[in-house]
Amino acid sequence: MRKLDLIGVLFTVFFTVRAESINRQNPGSVAVIGGGIAGLKAASMLHAAGYNVTLLEASDRIGGRTHTIWFGNESYTELGAEWVHGERNNSIFQLMNPLGVLQPRGQLREFGTDYGLPSGVWLQSNLTSNMREYLNYTWFDPEDWREEVHINVSQGVWARYVLERFNRTYHITDDPEMFEAIYDWAHRTSNAEESATSWFDVSGNDWGDRYIWLYGEPDVRWKPPYSYHTLAQFILSGSISEDGNFTLPDYIKLNQKVESIQYSTNGQTVNVSTQDETYSVDHVIFTGSLGVLKANHATLFTPPLSTRKQLAINNIGFGSVIKIAIEFAEPWWTPTFEGLFPVWNDIDYSNETLHYWRLDLTDAELATEYDGIPLWVRAILTLFNVDSGSAPNVLRAWVAGNPARFLDRQNSSYIQTHVVNAMRQFLSSQFPNITEPINLYKSNWGEDSNFGGTYSYRRVESDAENVWAADLGTPILNLATNKPLVCFAGEATHPHYYSTVHGAYDSAVREVDRIVAWGKMD
Ligand SMILES: Cc1cc2nc3c(=O)[nH]c(=O)nc-3n(C[C@H](O)[C@H](O)[C@H](O)COP(=O)(O)OP(=O)(O)OC[C@H]3O[C@@H](n4cnc5c(N)ncnc54)[C@H](O)[C@@H]3O)c2cc1C
Repeated sequence: MRKLDLIGVLFTVFFTVRAESINRQNPGSVAVIGGGIAGLKAASMLHAAGYNVTLLEASDRIGGRTHTIWFGNESYTELGAEWVHGERNNSIFQLMNPLGVLQPRGQLREFGTDYGLPSGVWLQSNLTSNMREYLNYTWFDPEDWREEVHINVSQGVWARYVLERFNRTYHITDDPEMFEAIYDWAHRTSNAEESATSWFDVSGNDWGDRYIWLYGEPDVRWKPPYSYHTLAQFILSGSISEDGNFTLPDYIKLNQKVESIQYSTNGQTVNVSTQDETYSVDHVIFTGSLGVLKANHATLFTPPLSTRKQLAINNIGFGSVIKIAIEFAEPWWTPTFEGLFPVWNDIDYSNETLHYWRLDLTDAELATEYDGIPLWVRAILTLFNVDSGSAPNVLRAWVAGNPARFLDRQNSSYIQTHVVNAMRQFLSSQFPNITEPINLYKSNWGEDSNFGGTYSYRRVESDAENVWAADLGTPILNLATNKPLVCFAGEATHPHYYSTVHGAYDSAVREVDRIVAWGKMD
């Protein structure tokens, strides 16, 4: 080593040690990137612990993938997260339920209790209850079936096996066309659950011990007038109000898209740059979605992320769902109607041109009409009034996967025309006076560059490449001191609660604890 280098090293060591001793008296500075639930929780915790926090949010609002919109006569709907999934060990349930703002209710399968055919006929209840039982077996009690089928398969292959066996045992239907139509309905249900285009892309292990379902009501709702906005309000202000109004803390900076994060594994600080400013901070917590990482990790991080993290980013799934809310002047349905699942028994499922779930489908194919119905309409999971408490004049339709991304790019009147046509086809036998809608509200998760989709799922490829949510959550440390330089939070980083709000929240607590624990080290 040359003498000059040695002086340089001693100089660096002196100032490093000094900087660290300053940090330990004074917790230090943190840039939290993203103002979704993970970012809000991380920033509020760090602020309370005395850190100098700056939260940089690219868009003009907080909440991220929780997004409550108000319209009309004080009606509101959720364009993002809807339910609180589970009660026991669910930090969102435990945080908010004591405030009386939640409304535990039936499970997802209780929604859309009716199933209808394109002819307008609604299915018999013994058939539909068998279908729900099948769904239970497949999703909630997979262990019984698991030993009999090789588990390293896609959900689609597994579901086919389970449905065939279930049909043999319970005779759901002996009609081969109806059997295929029910399999197709289950496929759409899974796609919406996973936000995937195809259940042949989703790991069969995902129905087993990876994602953990929490005990209690699996689909707890907010009690009107409360909503997911109430959660953001409570995290930031420690209080709630019926109108949801509160003042954002000064440490939150909206309209600040982070364009670069520069770090060195020998360094003490990280530089975070937006178009306007560069922040030099002790720690960063990055909470942008997996969709944002897929699109931007190569330009965002200097030096590039580790090979393993890149492998995880590329191979863990991140799909999309579109939520379409159609408002009418008043309901033309009865109060007891909860919704309807379309079951398309009028098509030849061996005809691959009709497979709306093919991964390589083009926009032109999705728009192609068969018997006057665009292919994407067959991807609609449900037509339901899940908002009956908060938006009584609204019916909603959900579509998942590539058809959802396609609809993100279409104008509202095109979507409205075809969704209302589907309502007329499936519902008018029960409700002959379907009126013209007055408004349509829709999400845009897939096309919005701040998200690039809705939530993460495990793909068959994730298993094949042996990459995990934990790989997404691995922090970048200073190699000499283990100081957490860049931490990663957000739903996709949670090993068992990915794709949920409680997963996002818990991941933030994990990363704040990591930073605080490092600060307390001697
Ligand atoms: C349609 C839909 C339905 C859902 N349903 C449910 C449900 O019923 N129950 C449930 O528990 N979960 C549900 N989820 C999932 C849940 O909403 C998410 O898991 C959770 O909200 C993710 O929070 P997050 O903080 O990890 O990420 P996000 O909410 O994505 O927050 C990240 C933030 O980072 C910002 N950002 C991105 N890039 C940058 C950048 N370069 N610079 C600065 N800021 C940036 C984004 O604008 C965003 O605000 C649903 C999600 C969607 C979209």
